[in-house]
Amino acid sequence: MGQIIGIDLGTTNSVCAYMDRNEPRVVINEEGGRVTPSVVGFTKGGDRFVGDIAKRQMLINPDATIHSIKRFMGRRFRDVTSDLRLVNYEVLEAPNGDCVISVNGRTFSPQELAAMVLQKIRKSAEDFLGEAVTEAVITVPAYFTDRQRQATRDAGTIAGLDVLRIINEPTAAALTYVHERQKASTIAVYDWGGGTFDISLLEVNRDVAEVRATRGNNTLGGADIDRRIVDWLLDHFTAQHGIDISQDKIVMQRMRDAAERAKLDLSTAPSTEIHLPFLVSDSDGPKHLQCSLSRTTFETLAEPLFQKTMQECRLALQDARIDVDDIDEVIMVGGSSRIPRVQELARELFGKPLNKSFNPDEIVAIGAAIQGGILEGEIKAITLLDVTNFSLGIEVQGRRFATLIPKNSTIPTQKGQLVSTVVDNQRTVKIHVLQGESSNASENVSLGEFELQNIQPAPRGVPRIQVKFGIDVSGIVSVNAKDLRTGLSGEIQIEAPTGMSKLEIERLRSEADQANKQDEAGQALKQLRNKVEKQLVTLESFLRENHGMLPKQDIFELEQALKRGRMALLKADDDRNLRSLLGYLQRFHQHLTKKLSQQASIH
Ligand code: AMP
Repeated sequence: MGQIIGIDLGTTNSVCAYMDRNEPRVVINEEGGRVTPSVVGFTKGGDRFVGDIAKRQMLINPDATIHSIKRFMGRRFRDVTSDLRLVNYEVLEAPNGDCVISVNGRTFSPQELAAMVLQKIRKSAEDFLGEAVTEAVITVPAYFTDRQRQATRDAGTIAGLDVLRIINEPTAAALTYVHERQKASTIAVYDWGGGTFDISLLEVNRDVAEVRATRGNNTLGGADIDRRIVDWLLDHFTAQHGIDISQDKIVMQRMRDAAERAKLDLSTAPSTEIHLPFLVSDSDGPKHLQCSLSRTTFETLAEPLFQKTMQECRLALQDARIDVDDIDEVIMVGGSSRIPRVQELARELFGKPLNKSFNPDEIVAIGAAIQGGILEGEIKAITLLDVTNFSLGIEVQGRRFATLIPKNSTIPTQKGQLVSTVVDNQRTVKIHVLQGESSNASENVSLGEFELQNIQPAPRGVPRIQVKFGIDVSGIVSVNAKDLRTGLSGEIQIEAPTGMSKLEIERLRSEADQANKQDEAGQALKQLRNKVEKQLVTLESFLRENHGMLPKQDIFELEQALKRGRMALLKADDDRNLRSLLGYLQRFHQHLTKKLSQQASIH
């Protein structure tokens, strides 16, 4: 069995870690970085890039550079309207109501795009570890719904990974804590990244991590903070120039970029300059944006978002029935937790210094690797008792929501419910499964509807159907129903609430695999062409330097070889021809060098 890798698939960046015997380590990617931007870029020519190179083209090609993919994973289009303001590319509604992303005339599901990021991570891990990698533990925000978890698992499958476990990001952070500290404490993990916020309260000791409560917001992250700055910049620009530039995609991308940079600066400096020259131009000439943003103004703009996270922390303490004084350590995770005002608020709320000894970008991936190590039996087992973050239930008469498994129940968990028919001789019963806290079913997240068929004809209320709802260790829901009179049961897994069937996932997986092979073949051809090019340049300078010493015949042959080489580079797309040409050029070069050195020794 190969290594099980741990992946923190982030909204902004992703990190991959593995266990090196008992020590978790971060994988260094092909670019030499520990963090890979979760960005996929496409060129008009059909090329695809992932990570740093993709991120670099964001400013010049904003509608074909897909970031924040995680915000659309497993979510219905009707629920993402406010997220559309955060991106410059086109998000559309799929026929089944899910989100799809349109790039250069092609549409991709968020799962396919996330799979491209995962594939890159997998490849980096394989190169780094020098072995095939097929198994992974992937982390998700604690507040991810079942649909979002399924979508994450599907993305892993498409990327060719067997996703052994999905674990919550703050829980992964707590695993890192348990692995390193091994002491009994009550800890709070405050996790604020680029797209989501989670707070988890845990009780840990030497070998158990028990989540007491979790709360969060799946649409509250660093990108929302950036958006506040962008709105401020837009107001500033409109007041100065009287022009509305909010519809220009390139301008908006430049603004977002500048806003994020300003935010990062303000984590260390009291104020920062924002300078965007030649933003637009009209008949009066080019218009620039130049202004100064102080930390105080920034904090005023973003304070409502900071407060939202603090409110979630208070509610989590209530849910867990833990007194704030009983929290021993507060661990800050995710890039946005670096904001000084956020740290100040967290310190005030919890009334103690924050634990900053862990790297907030890596602690989650490391926890995922530790979970992988536990599954492999490589490291001492830590019992992880996580909880469901939403109540699970069914729709009952009057469009009401009946809770079956309340939130913050320890997982895995199961709950049975007897249901019956409402009219005489009813042959089918539909069960609508939802997740959420509202008593009104339509305000909760629908996980899917399934139908129990072939119920024996009987007066209403007589059939007795036992429905069992389960939530596994990955937080994924399954539903199973049985007619107690007939014993008829259908194991009804809610397999594809994101609209992706197993078949479709399999098709995408083999397409992704194929695309990957083509990419690799393309890369190999590019490298070969580069080698030929280099050899030609070497021979050209060799000819210039030694023209006077070479016999006419050799000069003629060399010139012919150079011509052939240049022609081949112009048209060749066949690596066999290029390879043999390269061999010929190298041999010819060696032959001439030897000849010249023999001549020199005779003279
Ligand atoms: P993550 O999802 O944990 O990678 O966090 C990414 C988010 O953290 C992005 O929105 C970043 O802009 C933000 N971030 C990273 N470093 C800092 C910092 N020093 N100050 C403020 N925000 C930061």
